Amino acid sequence: MALGKDYATQQCSIARALEVVGERWTLLVVRDAIYGVRRYNDFLTHLGIPRAVLSARLKTLTEEGILEKRRYQEAPPRDEYVVTDRGIALWPALRALAVWGHEQLMDHRLRHLRHVECGTELAPNGECPSCGTSVPVADVLLMPGTGLDPDPADPVSRALLKPKRLLEPIETGQS
Ligand SMILES: [Zn+2]
Repeated sequence: MALGKDYATQQCSIARALEVVGERWTLLVVRDAIYGVRRYNDFLTHLGIPRAVLSARLKTLTEEGILEKRRYQEAPPRDEYVVTDRGIALWPALRALAVWGHEQLMDHRLRHLRHVECGTELAPNGECPSCGTSVPVADVLLMPGTGLDPDPADPVSRALLKPKRLLEPIETGQS
C-alpha cells in the first residue's frame, strides 16, 4: 500500500502544513524559488532531481498557490515559476530549518543572511540586530560562506557564489 500524504487523524496545523510541503524535495524547491530560481532547467540542475519528481513538485506547488506559473516566451512556449506571497510566507520556516541544521548537524556555515540596508548579519529569528527590525524577505542578502564548493558544476550554484538579494531572479541563460 502506498503511503498517503495526509495525516487524517491529526488535528494539528503542523500536520496540515506538511500535507502541502512535507514531501521530499518540496521545501528545497520553495527554497530555490525564494533564492530567485524561476526556470525549470535551473531547478533541475541545481537540485539534481529526476524530471518526473520536479514536474510533480512544481505542479503541486502551483496548485497550492505557492508558485505561480508565468509564460515568458511564446515560441516555443516556455513558462517560469515565480514564488507567491503564500510561498514567501514559508521563509521563516526555511530560515528556522537552516538555523537548526547549522547548529545541530554542521560544523561550518555555508551561507549567511544579512540585512541589505546595513550589511548586518541577521539574528536567528530573522531580525536585524543593528536596525532592531524584522527584515522583509526582499531585503535579505544571501552571502556565500567559507564551506561552499568554489567551483560548482551548475549555473545556479555558480550564481550563488556572489552575494544575492532574495527573490531577485537568477539569470543563468538556461530555459
Ligand atoms: Zn539592518
